[in-house]
Amino acid sequence: MIEQLNIQMVDLKGQYNKIKDEIQTGFDEVINACAFVNGPPVKQFAKNLEHYLDVKHVIPCGNGTDALQIALMALDLQPGDEVITVPFSFVATAEVIALLGLKPVFVDVEMDSFNMDVSKLETAITDKTKAIIPVHLFGQMSNMEALMEIANRHQITVIEDNAQAIGSDFYFSDGRTQKAGTIGYIGCTSFYPSKNLGCYGDGGAMFTNDDDLAHKIRCIANHGQVQKYRSDFVGVNSRLDSFQAVILDAKLKHLDEYVVARNKAAVFYDNAFKDQESLTVPHRVSYSNHVFHQYTLNYKGDRDGLKTALKEAGIPTMVYYPVPMHLHKAYDYLGNKVGDFPVCEYLAEHVISLPMHTEFTEDQLNYIVEQVLSKA
Ligand SMILES: *Cc1c(COP(=O)(O)O)cnc(C)c1O
Repeated sequence: MIEQLNIQMVDLKGQYNKIKDEIQTGFDEVINACAFVNGPPVKQFAKNLEHYLDVKHVIPCGNGTDALQIALMALDLQPGDEVITVPFSFVATAEVIALLGLKPVFVDVEMDSFNMDVSKLETAITDKTKAIIPVHLFGQMSNMEALMEIANRHQITVIEDNAQAIGSDFYFSDGRTQKAGTIGYIGCTSFYPSKNLGCYGDGGAMFTNDDDLAHKIRCIANHGQVQKYRSDFVGVNSRLDSFQAVILDAKLKHLDEYVVARNKAAVFYDNAFKDQESLTVPHRVSYSNHVFHQYTLNYKGDRDGLKTALKEAGIPTMVYYPVPMHLHKAYDYLGNKVGDFPVCEYLAEHVISLPMHTEFTEDQLNYIVEQVLSKA
């Protein structure tokens, strides 16, 4: 009988213990200064993230969903305009499109990378298509070089949903590299606690190299105000607080180490599972590195059975995402049906994500691997 170990999907407490002093000092400073919202730590963090990403503007906001919504609001689209995205993502991506009276149009994903199948993008483009939102799912980027070529040719704006791939690099065929979220017109990210760069509450940001757009986005996030009490745009209230910025700034210094730690765990899993008939380990594309927001297997067997057996062994797993976007009741009105996006529908029934974080011990990884191999 093997002893059960305490395994978590994400170990935020273990990570906190290593950066505790810096965070506590920063918190004291925020309280002393009483600048709780958009205070100096928010500006400092935005500067540091601009430097890290090599992008001209980082505009913090309240959460990742707001980031996507504000990005779309900045484009001045008309009701009924179409925005292309993927059906295999967190609901936020399609939700903001629908919320603004725009029409979400889906393009199926690839079986191996889980990201948009860019070879199917062009057939979804109509004269109403105004924007494309690729989602860099689980920590690996969509094929941005091919996607940008198509978008530019059709003069369509690209907004990257980078909530899961912050820190990831894209490798262009001419040898250039660029950070995820800085290739499209606007990049959006989330600092939700479980994300790779997560705070201890809600947070998000938008990235852009365009000065005028940055100004407009800043205004929209602040009630559309171009100066205090003068609104030129219909806006929203979406801001990052100073405590969250202290945490994010402390973690940003370690982000590259976190990527290494996640990749180490991923390679450990890969080596254990690569010869297991029923499991397909995550594919690595040639044009992007993987920052492993999730380690997601494609499992041929009884997924619910595996999930339950692992749970009994003390190992949490998650299914991201069990319902394809086009099959949610809320999006019935779009008229999509079962069979429209078969790859996404297949994945929704077969993917399973294992614990993935920065704080694993070798014993924990060994235990997880042993248990998965004995049950899968
Ligand atoms: C987390 C996430 C969002 C939303 O971010 P919130 O901060 O929770 O609003 C959007 N898109 C994707 C792909 C996400 O993973």
